[in-house]
Amino acid sequence: MRTRIAAGNWKMNTTLNEGMSLAHRINEFVKNYSLENKRIILGTPFTHLATIASSVDYKKISLAAQNCARWEKGAYTGEISAEMVRSTGAHYIIIGHSERRQFFKETHEELKQKVDLCLKSNLRPIFCIGEKLEEREANLHFDVVKKQLTESLFHLDHENMMHTVIAYEPVWAIGTGKNATPEQAQEMHAYIRTLIKEIYGISTAIEISILYGGSCNAANASSLFIQPDIDGGLIGGASLKVDDFIEIIKAL
Ligand code: PEP
Repeated sequence: MRTRIAAGNWKMNTTLNEGMSLAHRINEFVKNYSLENKRIILGTPFTHLATIASSVDYKKISLAAQNCARWEKGAYTGEISAEMVRSTGAHYIIIGHSERRQFFKETHEELKQKVDLCLKSNLRPIFCIGEKLEEREANLHFDVVKKQLTESLFHLDHENMMHTVIAYEPVWAIGTGKNATPEQAQEMHAYIRTLIKEIYGISTAIEISILYGGSCNAANASSLFIQPDIDGGLIGGASLKVDDFIEIIKAL
């Protein structure tokens, strides 16, 4: 049975104290909440990872970085390697978020390198894919998603694929307040699972968690998560509001 996941992406928000307080409140909630077969992930800024990882119940809450370098180590001033992320106590790295593709011009090849380094460090990638508005309007959304998966993820062997989480995040839905309808999201999630099945077989396709992201909030989470191929969400804005994020956890 695949894991259901509520993953927050805090982006470049919160000071360390603010982040600690947010994590503390989520930790207080999950203390008395059963999370069988479910996982909470907090995608914090790099600067918060070690402190928060050591202050929450690791059996219920995992930490994620929002990026890593595409090099293993060396003279790359300002970069953070996957191995450094691992040393903080984090267990995941968000890779290929559309904001990184847009603002930092990350290419399929770079993302492939990051995925490989992430897995090499025994971390799990949360690999983000999704089409832009003009691509959906031109009916290219399936092609775009297939290419993103093929170029950066489908080189993985079976075992590493099983350690990967996929997040479908249509770019037009991120931070816009305009989420994909449950039907649009389900259609794409089912398509992604079919692609995985074609390459890796049915048992892998059934086991991989595929998250939806894009203006997912306390009000619409249930209608999205109830879809058969949606296994939870990657949550931006709403993950910074404790009460909303708790409602999203309850919707898992
Ligand atoms: C995101 O940044 O991954 C995201 C889904 O953002 P939001 O929930 O704010 O749309």
